[in-house]
Amino acid sequence: MVEILRKHLQWLLLSSLVLALNACSSVQTTSSGVVGIDREQLMFFSSSELETEAQKAYADTVKEAGSQKSLNKDPKVTARVKGITTRLVAQVHNFRPDAVNWAWEINVIESKEVNAWCMAGGKMAVYTGLLDQLNLTDDELAAVLGHEIAHALREHSREQASMEVFTGAAVTIGSALLGLDEASQEVVSLVKDLGVSLPFSRKHETEADAIGIELSARAGFNPMAAVSLWNKMGGLSENKVPQFLSTHPAPESRSEHLQQLAEKVMPLYEAAKAANMNKANTNKATAVKTNEAGKNQLPALLPSEKQPPVKPPVLK
Ligand SMILES: [Zn+2]
Repeated sequence: MVEILRKHLQWLLLSSLVLALNACSSVQTTSSGVVGIDREQLMFFSSSELETEAQKAYADTVKEAGSQKSLNKDPKVTARVKGITTRLVAQVHNFRPDAVNWAWEINVIESKEVNAWCMAGGKMAVYTGLLDQLNLTDDELAAVLGHEIAHALREHSREQASMEVFTGAAVTIGSALLGLDEASQEVVSLVKDLGVSLPFSRKHETEADAIGIELSARAGFNPMAAVSLWNKMGGLSENKVPQFLSTHPAPESRSEHLQQLAEKVMPLYEAAKAANMNKANTNKATAVKTNEAGKNQLPALLPSEKQPPVKPPVLK
């Protein structure tokens, strides 16, 4: 009898979860590209809901860096970072045409942190620790920035926020039906069965690697630099890379995959070089803004690897 009741409750719970899933939408944020990223994503929020919060967080970050006099201190470095970003942004239409109209912005923040990110909507930051400690070539810097831009194009933070809400809702429903302790276990296994609660970070990292490397190649940056970049990252001592590498798969296995991806997109790189695309891209590129040191800071920025916290929107 208890067993029957239990089964019944499990079915109820499962139905509720399926209903919850129906309430969200399944989307493809990007085209698959040559690298073939083709995965449906479950989203509870609209892009604009998350972008609004991201803009606020970016504004705060830039404002704080400005008040600490750590914003875009070296014009040469800022120009270099902005130039590379502009070439990459000129290629985003290959994955999603609407991103061409995002209010792209990048700022360099003086900090020992080895970090860089791109928020929802195209707000980016690079920390000088990344440039100084890894002594990055332009190709390698493009690999980092391409990876970050890819996270934003795929809206990974929106997907992550959606999953957190979904998991929270599942636990609430389960608690109501089964009692808290039992519910935790039942829900965990059911959600796992549904295949929606698998670790996202690795999946997201793999997608960002693939799309980022294609963006780089299309922009005329050597895609092989992604391999040397991650080798350099792997060479940093642990206490130097807490933010950036904490969510990344082991550099060894990553190198191999990056190598394969680089070979795949090499023809795009060769074509970009041959057509001297770089110049043309820069000329017609979407404008990428940068705050000027010493002036009133216009806000705008957010990160991808360790971004400022963004308040999740309220689920409607
Ligand atoms: Zn990443």
